Amino acid sequence: MKKPVLVVGAGLSGLSAAWYLANRGAAVRVVCADADPGGLIHTRRMDEGLVETAANSLVVTARARALCAAIGVELCEPQKDSKRRFVFRDLRPRRWPLTMTESLGGAASVAWALARRAAKPRDGETVSVWGHRVIGRAMTDRLIAPVLQGIYAAPADRLSARAVFGSRKGRKGGVGAPRSGMGEIIERLADRLKDKGVSIECGVRVAALTSGEPAVVCTAAPEAARLLAPHAPELARAVSAIELSSAISVTAFFEPRPDDLRGFGVLFPRGAGVDALGVLFNSDIFPGRSALRSETWILAGAGRQHETDEAILADHVLPDRQLLSGRTDRPVAAYVTRWAQAIPIYDDAVLAAGALVGTLPPWLSVAGNYLGRIGASSLFDVAAEAAERLAL
Ligand SMILES: Cc1cc2nc3c(=O)[nH]c(=O)nc-3n(C[C@H](O)[C@H](O)[C@H](O)COP(=O)(O)OP(=O)(O)OC[C@H]3O[C@@H](n4cnc5c(N)ncnc54)[C@H](O)[C@@H]3O)c2cc1C
Repeated sequence: MKKPVLVVGAGLSGLSAAWYLANRGAAVRVVCADADPGGLIHTRRMDEGLVETAANSLVVTARARALCAAIGVELCEPQKDSKRRFVFRDLRPRRWPLTMTESLGGAASVAWALARRAAKPRDGETVSVWGHRVIGRAMTDRLIAPVLQGIYAAPADRLSARAVFGSRKGRKGGVGAPRSGMGEIIERLADRLKDKGVSIECGVRVAALTSGEPAVVCTAAPEAARLLAPHAPELARAVSAIELSSAISVTAFFEPRPDDLRGFGVLFPRGAGVDALGVLFNSDIFPGRSALRSETWILAGAGRQHETDEAILADHVLPDRQLLSGRTDRPVAAYVTRWAQAIPIYDDAVLAAGALVGTLPPWLSVAGNYLGRIGASSLFDVAAEAAERLAL
């Protein structure tokens, strides 16, 4: 007899947890509150090209490669142009945003911290505080802060240095993505799970868990806190303290021009006079994204959730684009995605929650991006660990 297991949520975490559980011989039932699987991740296949609603790529770790191969998803490598990455400084995109003096100052600061064995993040240190202490102000504010803000959608003074640098452990590999978008991983995973006899019920919100009936909670943090509360109160309290950032992404398609800036994209430090956190040049990154020039602009969502699509485009994206490139052309098409709750803010609350996973009862497990690892490929690791932790 196969052991029945309930998986709550059918985002990347839920579907991959279901995959690892089914491979361990469990009879898995996935229940998802949304109308279809995917959670944050969907690929909209529009006439102009692909539009990703959240992750546009993943780090190709050994586990991500193995999972994609097992479900028949081929991962494309990035194109040559995408090797060029830029940070905005003094109203220009720059491949290295520091002056020679700032670079040497940063290197000396790191060497001094290493010599004193003082480079590791200390308890409670934010990335800003750690950076100013260890790598210097210029390197922190002009390089590290914009890079991390592009990944974590939060400013460096809100991020815990321990949580952020811990979350990047084990992320070895280049980036990759399926040819027809990240949605292909979701669609193939769902199909292969059904082939294995896993049921996936969408449009059903799990109201509560039954004590002793094996379950893996794979929702975002606020809903996980609610479901865990009766069974793992300490962990639930820690998870409920995690804040989520809001984000807006705008994928806009423009007529290509020979003098378009080519590369992976541009990150915008705070105070650079730009609203956006960053822009990705999709059509330069992976093949087959669009015959037009496709750009995804990411904006912090706070205070902007109620603006119309046209206002977001006209008041934020197009002025920022003009500042970056001098261009004033309107896009052929633009698609706006709003996430009121996008991703967890990686502060001390994430560390506290991750440390309490061991307090779960043996019949209950948990997976998600608020447990100390954020990227899609890390979620496969978290899901595999969640499946293993469950006593079947
Ligand atoms: C704009 C943006 C860009 C990103 N870019 C990248 C990137 O380039 N690379 C990368 O690696 N990561 C990226 N990420 C992060 C990545 O997309 C997420 O971490 C990941 O998709 C989270 O998946 P999840 O399954 O943990 O959660 P979710 O996708 O939030 O899924 C949660 C699931 O739980 C279900 N659910 C909730 N409550 C209940 C309930 N009570 N009962 C039943 N079901 C329930 C929902 O229906 C949903 O299916 C990005 C995120 C955003 C927002």
